[in-house]
Amino acid sequence: MSNSPIIFWFRRDLRLDDNLGLYMAIRSRQPVLPIFIIDPRLERGPWFSRNRTAFMLTALAALDARLRQLNSALLIRRGDPLEVLTALVSETGANALYFNRDYTPFARKRDEAVVRQLGIAFRIVDDNLLVPPEKLRKDDGAPFKVFTPFHRRWNMLTKPKIRELDFRAARFLPHAHTSSPEPLARARLQPQPHVPLPPADEHSAREQLSRFIAKSISHYAESRNSLVIDPFVDDNAGPSGLSPYLRFGILSPRQVYWNARDRYAEASDEPVRQSIEAFCRQLAWREFFVHIMFHFPHVRRGNFRPEFDNLAWRDAPAELTAWQEGRTGYPIVDAAMRQLNAIGWMPNRARMITASFLSKHLLIDWRAGEAYFMRCLLDGDPAANNGGWQWTAGTGTDAQPFFRIFNPILQSRRYDNDGRYIQHWLPELRHLPASHLHQPWTLKSTQLEYPPPIIDHRAARERALAAFQAARA
Ligand SMILES: Cc1cc2nc3c(=O)[nH]c(=O)nc-3n(C[C@H](O)[C@H](O)[C@H](O)COP(=O)(O)OP(=O)(O)OC[C@H]3O[C@@H](n4cnc5c(N)ncnc54)[C@H](O)[C@@H]3O)c2cc1C
Repeated sequence: MSNSPIIFWFRRDLRLDDNLGLYMAIRSRQPVLPIFIIDPRLERGPWFSRNRTAFMLTALAALDARLRQLNSALLIRRGDPLEVLTALVSETGANALYFNRDYTPFARKRDEAVVRQLGIAFRIVDDNLLVPPEKLRKDDGAPFKVFTPFHRRWNMLTKPKIRELDFRAARFLPHAHTSSPEPLARARLQPQPHVPLPPADEHSAREQLSRFIAKSISHYAESRNSLVIDPFVDDNAGPSGLSPYLRFGILSPRQVYWNARDRYAEASDEPVRQSIEAFCRQLAWREFFVHIMFHFPHVRRGNFRPEFDNLAWRDAPAELTAWQEGRTGYPIVDAAMRQLNAIGWMPNRARMITASFLSKHLLIDWRAGEAYFMRCLLDGDPAANNGGWQWTAGTGTDAQPFFRIFNPILQSRRYDNDGRYIQHWLPELRHLPASHLHQPWTLKSTQLEYPPPIIDHRAARERALAAFQAARA
């Protein structure tokens, strides 16, 4: 047994429980030195989010606290990962680096450089997906581009189980390198979030999961579309609100999947079983978009379908700002954008409605919306966000066809019929009767402190259809 440490590099897996890479490192019986590296390149990027970074720092503090209970601590350093790791190897004599795999193009490039140049043994572990990209291909070896057959195959494959770790057997490196009482202070990155943050520790994440599994999952098939106001404080009856936890690996996908499956095994009621299947299907969507970005990295910047590369997007900065601020005059769109600005999260239905409005009604390039979401969302994730935007804009793989354009008035009536969501996020419309909430411009009153519609729905629809058709021609 070697006494040289193994460096365990935390990235999108900010937990101790069911962390497969960490499990492997501990099982090697060498001492383990846990580190997180803050890469300043991310702070300079256009997707930098104060909200998400603040949430991540809270998660790091929670991880550090758990490690301290095990007589260790989380070493946090700042800088280029290769340089930081090279210095750490020479300081500690570490002879191996372990980490869980990150599948995005940016991370792959970074990790390849580290592995090539660090000059010590390494182990890269599949942890963040139930089925990694190499394990799921069509019979001819090509990657799937359409979700339904992807999902069928994904469903058939065996998923890894949750790994229980006995931390008493773990040998974490004692404090020599991590003696700072408050390592986050050294990170020199303390952004004030614009939004209240949900708790970011493993215990709270598991509680959110348990509450959902105990109750709301049983009617998820209908409620997944509900416009919930805040899944982190409400007695949530809609979707799970697990996305920030999955985004940062505070929960593993195995913990989520197997808890749902155990509930399925206990359920005798057919609608409950269907709801649990519907939930697991969403976990497959998460994996689908990671696979897409892995196999087709051009989607990171461009349309999946090149036929839309010539689309004449409009340059309309004032309209983009109105959309961002929730001032389009369409209450359902504005309520959703105000929710995003207020809590850093939106339910899936609201994301589809707002994304459709920007890319179709305003004919503004989906990449502007993608970037704004990335700046605001606590769960902002390159693959899921890109997949969601391209799906809605009609430029993506397996996309909604471009001629399907959400009607914001019908969406509003269907998903917020009693107007609860609109009234919560748009206080200026609280006094309106539900019958006028979806189209306040139909009111004769001139007293309204609310803008008229930024564009007429029918005209916008025709303009979008013409632009998409012209691009294809
Ligand atoms: C335009 C647009 C942008 C989006 N951006 C993101 C993003 O940046 N990060 C993100 O995690 N999700 C994104 N989504 C997907 C989805 O809206 C969120 O995952 C979901 O709303 C999160 O809430 P929840 O955890 O309550 O979801 P639930 O309905 O409870 O689903 C459980 C989990 O499944 C995954 N999931 C559910 N739906 C999807 C989906 N359509 N695509 C991928 N994964 C899914 C998420 O990890 C989610 O936490 C986006 C969707 C659209 C249309």
